[in-house]
Amino acid sequence: MSSLAGKNRKSGEVSGPLTADITDLPGVGPGRRKLLTVLGIRTVADLLLYPPRRYIDRKAIVSTSDLAGGEIQTIVGEVRSVEVRRTGRKTLAVARVRDESGAVKCVWFNQPYLKNSLKRGESYLFSGQVRVDKFGTALVHPEYELEGGRLLHTGRVVPVYRLAPGLGQRFMRRLADAALESHLPGEVDPIPEELLGVLGLMPLSDALSALHFPEDLEQAERARRRLAFDEMLLFQTMFAKARMAARDGQGRSSRARRGGSHGHEELVSTLPFDLTPSQDGVLREVLADLEATGPMRRLIQGDVGCGKTVVAGLAAARVCGSGDQVALMCPTELLAEQHYRSMAGALDAFGHSVGLLTGGMTAAERSRVLAGLASGRIDMVVGTHALFSERVEFRRLGLVVVDEEQRFGVLQRGRLVAKAPEADFLALSATPIPRTLALTAYGDLDISVIDELPPGRGRHVTKLVLPEDRESALAAFTSRIGAGEQAFYICPVLDDGSLGLTGVKTAKREIEARLGSRGSVGLITGRTPSEERQETVRAFEAGKVRCIVATSVLEVGIDVPGATLLVVQEADRFGLSQLHQMRGRVQRSSRDSYSYFLVPETAGERAMRRLAVLEDNYDGFDIAEQDLMLRGPGDIVGRRQHGLPGLRFTMLPEDMDLLHAAREAAFRAARAGGAAWDSWLEVIGGAAGGDRAIV
Ligand code: ADP
Ligand code: MG
Repeated sequence: MSSLAGKNRKSGEVSGPLTADITDLPGVGPGRRKLLTVLGIRTVADLLLYPPRRYIDRKAIVSTSDLAGGEIQTIVGEVRSVEVRRTGRKTLAVARVRDESGAVKCVWFNQPYLKNSLKRGESYLFSGQVRVDKFGTALVHPEYELEGGRLLHTGRVVPVYRLAPGLGQRFMRRLADAALESHLPGEVDPIPEELLGVLGLMPLSDALSALHFPEDLEQAERARRRLAFDEMLLFQTMFAKARMAARDGQGRSSRARRGGSHGHEELVSTLPFDLTPSQDGVLREVLADLEATGPMRRLIQGDVGCGKTVVAGLAAARVCGSGDQVALMCPTELLAEQHYRSMAGALDAFGHSVGLLTGGMTAAERSRVLAGLASGRIDMVVGTHALFSERVEFRRLGLVVVDEEQRFGVLQRGRLVAKAPEADFLALSATPIPRTLALTAYGDLDISVIDELPPGRGRHVTKLVLPEDRESALAAFTSRIGAGEQAFYICPVLDDGSLGLTGVKTAKREIEARLGSRGSVGLITGRTPSEERQETVRAFEAGKVRCIVATSVLEVGIDVPGATLLVVQEADRFGLSQLHQMRGRVQRSSRDSYSYFLVPETAGERAMRRLAVLEDNYDGFDIAEQDLMLRGPGDIVGRRQHGLPGLRFTMLPEDMDLLHAAREAAFRAARAGGAAWDSWLEVIGGAAGGDRAIV
């Protein structure tokens, strides 16, 4: 790898060679291109920014006489002979390899072509597992390459990639190597040298090389940090631009009208309860945003059930009252249907009309709603992301609300806001993003927090249930249902057998057998058709269905105050924040509620310690923070569901220093305009999987 340190580097555009199509590289035709696309690799940059999953250190060369059984070791020696034998249906290739200290065999099954590719008398490196038995010492299925040539697979720190069917490690390494040879931007670096110097970061070309073929693991880590910085710079630049655009936004005539729309007093007077002081404070912040000149960019965070949706509904009423339209986007149809009903009820008090747009509607219903939105007859529409991916025309869209924002990603949000830049934007999130991460995920938004639950909620008890207590826990569960309570029963997998677990249908049969005549059981999964799902939810609300068995689709939405019991099977399969969300589903009334998290024998002590956090902690922020520390950001509820951008390189909280630096640099550049790194960030944004996003 060439070191660029000390040479005269230039800052500027790097996109030219990097944005070349992957077929630019030798050995990649349409067939291989298709295989690589599965990994999101379409361009040379996608490949170079595709981080190895791990590295194997094969630097140490061992004498054949020192090989140790069971270890993975590397030798250098001369091939003395190569034989291919048949043993039953298999072929066995055996090479005898000698170094100064002695000789060993290298063996491969079903690779008869080795007879021709390994040349007698030549020296190779071999890396593989050492087997010692009565026949002597052998390396089993070693990787090999010619000594004195370019080392990609042995004798160095070797990258190991996540693969797709039809792709092998050797191919990926050769490809990365070819790309590094021919397509690096050389001395050009989009980040000014001075800034890199202050932060102690590697030049770009060095980092891309070292990411794939580092000299040692420490260098691989330095490469990761450099690319993590660029990745954070991407998101912070997006945030900075969004902020600038909002600040420069034109004051619109509708803002003046909003002053004359339903006022605070009128809005809250339609509610059957008083807002909590926390809700009221947030409502006032939102109303002030709606009247300010630039468009609102705000996130309301707060635990499940704290009353975010109520505040959003009042904001919607205010906007409808000024003659603008409102769109409420939900992550699931289930939630959209639920919100549609409650919004229709709430806005009716003001004489505003609400429509629903989901995939499960008939064409006639659909075109009726679409026409209503275009003409302005419908004031508010509730739907899924399809609201913004299809051609839905609004007469005058004034406010976009996104519920359960953590289900969408930062890039999706950016795209959504860009579709209606003039409109106010309000996001709601119940997965509290730990303070440590808020800047990464929500750097473009003002944040309001609702930090109390409405008064009069019952007590909640969470219990971890070990296998030996499963029977008694389920007995308590059934007798509570018998006494009139209602329950959710969650399974981590849909089908029996996946991950070796039991799926929803089997669970449903078990509950039915337990309940007998005490109540009927419903089933909801991601595959349940929307009509059937609505019917089940309605039957549950009406008390006809006593228990809903479901996959984690129930995590969001479903607001049925009667539900007071939750069972989660194999709770160790879920993140803490996700479990916290689920138990929020049963804390909606003044009655006491219970969550039983079943923990299998196989869960292990670490999982137990992790889950134990939930037994005596009910603070969502705190739980999210603990989840972060224990499992890393990607895992909190699954990377995409978390709302965190597709962070490939960034590790938090470790890279916090870089995050602050990236934010400062991004905002400074956005104010000055025309940053040299813009085209580079587009390249990274493409590689981060932007086009695989939801919206
Ligand atoms: P979130 O969206 O934050 O999960 P919701 O807005 O759906 O919470 O409110 C949860 C439940 O609590 C709803 O049934 C709602 O009607 C009720 N609720 C909200 N705010 C209050 C309040 N201030 N007093 C009493 N009940 C409330
Ligand atoms: Mg909600």
